[in-house]
Amino acid sequence: KDTLLEINNLTKHFHLNKGKVLKAVDGVSLQIFKGETLGVVGESGCGKSTLGRTIIRLYDPTSGQVIYDGVSLQEKRSKEQRKSFQKKMQMIFQDPYSSLNPRKTVMEIVSEGILIHEPELNPSKRAEKVYYILELVGLNKTHATRYPHEFSGGQRQRIGIARALAVNPEFIIADEPIAALDVSIQAQIVNLLKDLQNERGLTYLFIAHDLAMVKHISDRIAVMYLGNIVELTTSDILYHKPLHPYTEALLSAIPVPDPKIERTRERIILEGNIPSPIDPPSGCRFRTRCRHAMDICKEAVPEWKEAEANHFVACHLY
Ligand code: SF4
Ligand code: MG
Repeated sequence: KDTLLEINNLTKHFHLNKGKVLKAVDGVSLQIFKGETLGVVGESGCGKSTLGRTIIRLYDPTSGQVIYDGVSLQEKRSKEQRKSFQKKMQMIFQDPYSSLNPRKTVMEIVSEGILIHEPELNPSKRAEKVYYILELVGLNKTHATRYPHEFSGGQRQRIGIARALAVNPEFIIADEPIAALDVSIQAQIVNLLKDLQNERGLTYLFIAHDLAMVKHISDRIAVMYLGNIVELTTSDILYHKPLHPYTEALLSAIPVPDPKIERTRERIILEGNIPSPIDPPSGCRFRTRCRHAMDICKEAVPEWKEAEANHFVACHLY
């Protein structure tokens, strides 16, 4: 498998009042392969959105490296080079309403990136391209003159996807793209993203707050807790043989769709709230909520290791 993105020991800390530091992302290392979907799952506040935004450089990392297709994004680059990376990496946001400018028509919204990256296109060619992209996402020409508020949530997310696709990106970070949508619409958007990936060879980082949402789209899944990745493996292995106690708890929370099917997993209720990333627990950050916590969990940070083939975990049990 070819690596598209390599992230090494990436941190993003925010400096707050009174010298406090919020360690939103705290030492994340992973690879994203070309053409795959890597799901990132964790409760709100675990740092997954910050991770996405730091990878795509909406935030400057505090430390660590992001290497895209062999090129480090940290080094100072010319304006042209930065522009070329912006074109390759796009983002789709959770709330397609607040992320779309309400005073712009769909034509203007989808054209924005084209104007920057293909300024040579004349207005009629540009409009043709916008119509083509609207068709790709299941909308059409007649939608181009309308404004975001005239659309349903699902259609607005299609506009957000069209905007991202307009510059022919290779890599898309989708930050909870279906979390705000009706359940009946969620599968449509997931299927659209899958189809577009197959047709266009896209690579996705797909962020979600529960495992049910990433299940059908992810090839591999990374589980995040308090700024760290605690487990990473293929979707299949993660669903059938999770290793980390936090992953087990997340999995046990997925509702069983048919009440006649007996629940095979015991429901694990996580005690307490996620601790503050300003003052995370010593040792294993999950220990305050872990039913397997041992003395060593308080003292030592568990090492990130390949416990089984292609199955990485950070936990003293392994
Ligand atoms: Fe639980 Fe200890 Fe493993 Fe952390 S290292 S998940 S506290 S068993
Ligand atoms: Mg978020």
